[in-house]
Amino acid sequence: MRPMGEPKPGIVRAMVVEDEEALASLVGSYLEREGFEVHLVLDGASAVGRAREVDPDIVVLDLGLPGLDGVEVCRQLRTFSDAYVVMLTARDDEVDKLVGLSVGADDYMTKPFSPRELIARLRAMLRRPRMSGSDRPDEEARTFGPLVVDPVGREVWLDGEPVSLTRTEFDLLATLAQRPQMAFSRQQLIEAVWGQSWVGDEHLVDVHIGHLRRKLSDDAVNSRFVRTVRGVGYRMGTGQ
Ligand code: CA
Repeated sequence: MRPMGEPKPGIVRAMVVEDEEALASLVGSYLEREGFEVHLVLDGASAVGRAREVDPDIVVLDLGLPGLDGVEVCRQLRTFSDAYVVMLTARDDEVDKLVGLSVGADDYMTKPFSPRELIARLRAMLRRPRMSGSDRPDEEARTFGPLVVDPVGREVWLDGEPVSLTRTEFDLLATLAQRPQMAFSRQQLIEAVWGQSWVGDEHLVDVHIGHLRRKLSDDAVNSRFVRTVRGVGYRMGTGQ
């Protein structure tokens, strides 16, 4: 028997937050068939608390929930979890609105969707290369004025204070920091961070960069750290 609260190695913990019970069960059964440990939650208000208990690796999150909606659940989740979040929306145009709101989801799917496609996307996300220390033991911390990025410890400091980033935000920053002289296209960042098989939308890169800049107190126009390269994408360095 394993002690309470200690994660089983190799098991993917998935949380499905969806108030339509039939859809929740359907998605849940697909995830179970994939060998995931599945937790179904039928309303937004319980979702955040359950996520603290379960510590999910992936969260399939409906936007339209009674009580707390998907946007608010995602915001609260992001304060303590770096789970991959796929947001389910009822209409295509909601996705643009959500991207504008910078809610911090990793991907979006519009209903009705194919559970197979959902699984394919989750599998692609789980295959994402981890820029962990064990893979790159010789990687040194890099300094950009008051900002320090340590790829081995996966830590970031700003003015000597640790900055808490999600896994995606960290991977984006570490990718840019690794080659500060290089302007990365969105596609190059997707390949470096999400992996080549990822099938999402390029402007999710902008969403995560937006979060990252906010956490680094950076400015899109006069950026200290993550600079926009017009017509290309992003690079480290100050704006000019
Ligand atoms: Ca709903």
